[in-house]
Amino acid sequence: MNIREKVKDSAIQSGIGQTGFISVKDLVLYPEIRKICEENACRNYGISWACPPAVGTLEECRKRLNQYDTMLLFSGSYNYEDPFDIDGMHKALLAFKRAVDQFDIRLKPFLKDYLLLSNEGCGRCSECTYPDAPCRYPELLHPSIEGYGLQISELAEKASMQYYGGPNTVNFFGGLLFKERT
Ligand code: SF4
Repeated sequence: MNIREKVKDSAIQSGIGQTGFISVKDLVLYPEIRKICEENACRNYGISWACPPAVGTLEECRKRLNQYDTMLLFSGSYNYEDPFDIDGMHKALLAFKRAVDQFDIRLKPFLKDYLLLSNEGCGRCSECTYPDAPCRYPELLHPSIEGYGLQISELAEKASMQYYGGPNTVNFFGGLLFKERT
């Protein structure tokens, strides 16, 4: 198996549904997406090491992405009862976070240097240490893919993946940055 096949296989084994590859040079970081973070649309701004401003400026995010050459975009698809099913949507996000944790565990034995981005904030601890103390679990920290200024619908199109899952379905996305060429 080559490295692409290995990371893709690890994602699928972790319960992640769709995957696609994008070259890092084709990733665009949008100030407009960062502005949505700053407006606190998802209520994660400034409360976690996984989100802005803790993840740094877009220039700093770009530099971090540029340490790799390939992104595996991945997504999990989850159902909920109706648009008012807040509990169902929360459970769906937790299920996706668990899948990303499983993916991370599967990557570690064969991938030494990578960056794993996940959907939205962290939520691992009942109360985040940000900004008073370092993250309790830096080795398990999966920064927000949106916090990096990436537009998910655009990424999905570039990776030939489905963005909208249909009624009462939510698709969460993450990205694995890795080096295909050494
Ligand atoms: S692991 Fe805990 S301390 Fe670290 S970012 Fe997540 S919630 Fe905050």
